[in-house]
Amino acid sequence: MRGRMMDWPLLISSLIEHAAQNHADAEIVSRSVEGPMHRTTYAEVNRRSKQLAKALGKLDVGFGDRVATLAWNGYRHVELYYAISGIGSVCHTVNPRLFVDQLIYIFNHAADKVLFFDLTFLPLVEKLAAQMKTVRHFVLMTDRAHMPASSPLKLLCYEELLAAEDDDLHWPRFDELTASSLCYTSGTTGNPKGALYTHRSTVIHALTCCATDVFSMSAEDSVCPIVPMFHVNGWAVPYAAAMSGTRLVMPGPALDGASVAKLFNDEGVTFSLGVPTVWLGLIKHMDETGGKFRTFKRMLVGGSAIAPSLVEAFQKRYGVNVRHGWGMSELSPVGTTGTLKRKHMGLSEDEKIQVQLKQGRALYGVEMKIVDAEGKRLPHDGKAQGELLVRGPGVVSGYFNDEEASRAALDEEGWFRTGDVGTIDTDGYLQITDRRKDVIKSGGEWISSIDIENMAIGHPDIQEAAVIGLPHQKWGERPLLIAVPKEGKTPTKEAVTQFIAGKVEKWMVPDDVVFVKELPHTATGKLLKIKLREDFKNHRLPGT
Ligand code: ADP
Repeated sequence: MRGRMMDWPLLISSLIEHAAQNHADAEIVSRSVEGPMHRTTYAEVNRRSKQLAKALGKLDVGFGDRVATLAWNGYRHVELYYAISGIGSVCHTVNPRLFVDQLIYIFNHAADKVLFFDLTFLPLVEKLAAQMKTVRHFVLMTDRAHMPASSPLKLLCYEELLAAEDDDLHWPRFDELTASSLCYTSGTTGNPKGALYTHRSTVIHALTCCATDVFSMSAEDSVCPIVPMFHVNGWAVPYAAAMSGTRLVMPGPALDGASVAKLFNDEGVTFSLGVPTVWLGLIKHMDETGGKFRTFKRMLVGGSAIAPSLVEAFQKRYGVNVRHGWGMSELSPVGTTGTLKRKHMGLSEDEKIQVQLKQGRALYGVEMKIVDAEGKRLPHDGKAQGELLVRGPGVVSGYFNDEEASRAALDEEGWFRTGDVGTIDTDGYLQITDRRKDVIKSGGEWISSIDIENMAIGHPDIQEAAVIGLPHQKWGERPLLIAVPKEGKTPTKEAVTQFIAGKVEKWMVPDDVVFVKELPHTATGKLLKIKLREDFKNHRLPGT
């Protein structure tokens, strides 16, 4: 028997419409690319998104067409998110930090019809435009006063496009499984692959992100997504904020510690989200200036594992609650968050931090399993380590126009292979120990590079660290630690290995330490281990 409830599609437009109806005057504050702070509201963003939707129609953008954005976090980018998806087109956010070859591949593979971009990216767009085979219109996201005097491109002006339209539009209703947005993984090997989200997956994911144990989004909050909107839907913040009427504070391009600290205090930010690199920059600034947070109370850290020293610094010294999250582009992106359970309330602060350091428990709608090399399920006992696979309404079932990658994405039971390796404990907490390709196999045992890196960062003289496996005749592979000393510090190999030796089994301690000025990173701020393996392939470990 079928139930008697309305068949109501979960559409992205319903989020901004909801915010405009119920939180009309809630603010969206942006540090604009042009310079000054800009203030708008959900009601105004809804109106302008409708004008923009009409303008897209005039540019011949139709249902299913891809529209690309190259933009920082700001109100115009929010308007684009809603306008493009709202009319059934696909909002393709492009990460400007990718290599030029990857950018060209992505624009052509997605076959974008129109490109909207911030002033910052004008030189980049002018350089790449001739190789973008499908883009017919280039729209600069600014007003007439900031348009360049001349450009080899025929540029359209965002504010002029909007000014030419009224907001008399009802968001169309269509199938909730319609594609809504597209985001390519940075692809450290091979070509980038496109995760193509649906309206349904996006709305369900936003709903689960609002939950207390995930973002705790509320109409009382003021949230600042430091994570860029050009990377995996800004971790769902633009959607979850509209759903809960949360005030949005957009940082624009200024992501250094000093700018972030000022923005948080000036704008009363209560909650923020970003990758560890950003938080390291912020804590360094706070420590150096002796600053205090006025309103900042909780933060979500994801994209890479967090080091214990980071959690301790924020929680113990600055009273900011740290939430660890794990996710990936293929998951919309949040998969787990590491909030505590009632049973942990009696633990000491340090014991609680041990729980918080794990990547956390699955969000509703994300099922997880770990498997061995043969694909056999492993127990969730916190000890057995295996590859993590996931499934659920917010998980990709394949990639956009890429049959080969799609075939390899799922196992026989239809679960998505994350490529991450970890354990799951009896309380459901996931702990990521490595990427599958980065795992170090020494004498039949696995050494977690993430664990050793976190320990090395705990050394007072180490700023950043990476661990890779190098071939070893006797053990198969042994770990090499590559570390960046803190400014003005000159730690010794012995001091660092002794520091680690006190904390792990003897056979896990790196055989050698190399100090470098900086480590290579991917476009999303992760350690680029493939490059490190190449750079250090001729390095001889002691005794080999
Ligand atoms: P990219 O475009 O670089 O692939 P993603 O955000 O999709 O960007 O990267 C996802 C990967 O990042 C995960 O598969 C995992 O390896 C890593 N990752 C994300 N969050 C964490 C975390 N909290 N701890 C450890 N690794 C993480």
